[in-house]
Amino acid sequence: MKSGILLVDDELNILRALERMLRRAGYEVFCANGAKEGLVVFEQQDINVIITDFRMPEINGAEFLKLAKRQSPHTVAMILSAYADFNSVVEVLNSGLAFKFLQKPWLETQLLEDIEAALEKYDNERQQYLRTQLLIGSQDALLEFDRRGQLIRFNAAGQKLLGLSAMEMQQAALSTLFHNIQVEQLVAFLQKQSLSVSVTTQKGIPLELIHQLSDDDHYLLRVEAVQSVSHVTEQFADMPEVLDQLHLLQEIDLLLAVDARPLAVIYLDIRNFSDVHHSLGFQGADQLVAMLGTHLLHQVKDRGKLAYLFADQFVIVIQKWRHEAQLQDIVHNAVQEFDKPQVILGKALHVRFNVGYTIAPDDGADAKTLIHQARQAARSPHRPESNFMLRYDRRYIESRKLQYEISNALYEAVSQDELQLAYQCKVDLQSHKIASAEVLLRWTHPELGSVSPAIFIPIAERDGQIHELGVWVIRHTLMQLVKWRDAGLDLPQMAVNISPIQLQQRDFIQNLLALVREFSVHPSHLQLELTETAVMEHLDFGLSQLQLLREAGFSIAIDDFGTGYSSLSYLTKLPVDVVKLDRSIINDIEHSLATQSMVRNIIRMSHELGISLVAEGIETKEQHDLLTQMNCNYAQGYLYSKPVDAGRFLQLALQQPLAAMLSGDQTNA
Ligand code: C2E
Ligand code: MG
Ligand code: MG
Repeated sequence: MKSGILLVDDELNILRALERMLRRAGYEVFCANGAKEGLVVFEQQDINVIITDFRMPEINGAEFLKLAKRQSPHTVAMILSAYADFNSVVEVLNSGLAFKFLQKPWLETQLLEDIEAALEKYDNERQQYLRTQLLIGSQDALLEFDRRGQLIRFNAAGQKLLGLSAMEMQQAALSTLFHNIQVEQLVAFLQKQSLSVSVTTQKGIPLELIHQLSDDDHYLLRVEAVQSVSHVTEQFADMPEVLDQLHLLQEIDLLLAVDARPLAVIYLDIRNFSDVHHSLGFQGADQLVAMLGTHLLHQVKDRGKLAYLFADQFVIVIQKWRHEAQLQDIVHNAVQEFDKPQVILGKALHVRFNVGYTIAPDDGADAKTLIHQARQAARSPHRPESNFMLRYDRRYIESRKLQYEISNALYEAVSQDELQLAYQCKVDLQSHKIASAEVLLRWTHPELGSVSPAIFIPIAERDGQIHELGVWVIRHTLMQLVKWRDAGLDLPQMAVNISPIQLQQRDFIQNLLALVREFSVHPSHLQLELTETAVMEHLDFGLSQLQLLREAGFSIAIDDFGTGYSSLSYLTKLPVDVVKLDRSIINDIEHSLATQSMVRNIIRMSHELGISLVAEGIETKEQHDLLTQMNCNYAQGYLYSKPVDAGRFLQLALQQPLAAMLSGDQTNA
């Protein structure tokens, strides 16, 4: 079952930049280079959210949305445009065609937030639609409550069972409609930890409230007279091996009492189950649940117990396992069959699962806790995209713990002499000589080992240590520059990475100037690399800081270009000397004509603006040849050298030009 985002834009580079960003954020993305193509893709794929340009040749964004929404009114649309004229946009928003207007250039974090909001809106509307369908179509007695417990809608069967007039039902609260509710049980029920709760009506009739389709804000409940719900797992009424909730709790508590440990409790449900409902209807969804239950039972019955809670929720209890990896294998094998599309009511659908587990006694000592935490783990925001299983909170706790440890250990790094610098050459593609070196920070902790800057830099940014580290890097870079100069290597420039947090510091520029003065180095020998995202996200103060830095003589490079905004029009506004094309663009350049044409354009336009280009992450001769042909100025990557220590860099520099370097063996620093 797909739930995708469709991007429509007539500018290929914008399309690619957005696509990369959204893929990185884990979304399923479809692209269309214009409205006509957009309509074709929209018809073929399952699309939840559309992001479209406004001004496009032939069909504009508003007309495109009109046509798309005719096909599928629930899709949430957003318009992303730089030039859309105000009146048209207002008209589109007012007509309800679009949910939001987003402005180019976009801020990555803002855009991702807006997309999340759009997806949420889509889910809410879809759920609302399903609840309405049920209220209209179902023979069962149904009541819909809001999160405060107010009755908002009900059907005729519901009213009949309660024996109240429509007037009496209006806006009634759960607490006035029913008596004898135990608060604890009600809370567990509303948190969907239990399928049903027993209540008594004003007229003294015992009833059972059962979740039919509930989310966090709306509860659509089925009401049944008590005698008919003795067996809640009607789905598996003819399969007594499938336990219901009550028997599951008893079974687990029994196993715990006889000390059958370690005991694993695995919670499993279907991801996007509401989409399954939408696509197959209730009959199809029931059929899928029945299929899944039968299959799971077959898979696990020799090793443990299967229970069906309700809707799409199953619990597996496993006793016979030796180590956690084996446990994961058992579950993996049990759902493996569903890697293939499943055909239900003539439709093929891909089923994915949320799986979480707990192990007794470590993660809980009673049945309810174990099931609850397993469910929480399954719904953890840290869950990866594919089928997976997570142990209760463990990953989260571990990553938090590790971050804390890293942050702590980093405080000692400078004084304990645990930091080193590595140097990676940037090669001039004309002369094949080393034009400069990028300085990359390395940290080796006695216990944690070597920690990647991709991990510790963000932590240092968060806990403020980046300022001290940043100064350390610049000081040692300048020291090295002078040392090499004394050894006869006159490197024209060295590049250091600067975090946006450093830029924010008020006396950053003064400190930097003081440092270059201390080492008698002219600012032009120092290049400051700032990532594209950092610059764009801190445009307010960043722009003036960059301007001042450049006026002071420092060279400015935009790092990782192509991972964020990637429109050259922004570059015209930025005081920049160099643009570094990100490795992710270079990666597939040999195989993609579209990427080649995009890179060619970026290079041509940058040159027109007087900006030089560095291609990052060159690993193959083909990439090197292509970028040379395209007039790219410099290249950096494993093909020439990995980041190496100062001694090795000096050797490398003495082997210039490039031909000799390519034949040398390269070792990592
Ligand atoms: P970056 O500035 O984009 O640095 C390039 C990264 O790509 C480096 O990773 C480098 O080792 C890697 N790389 C270079 N050529 C190739 C190649 O051909 N193939 C592949 N696969 N990788 C290549 P590294 O050293 O792990 O650094 C990661 C990031 O950490 C850097 O990305 C930079 O953003 C940040 N960083 C490193 N040192 C510092 C520092 O002193 N200060 C700050 N603020 N950030 C730093
Ligand atoms: Mg860099
Ligand atoms: Mg980079």
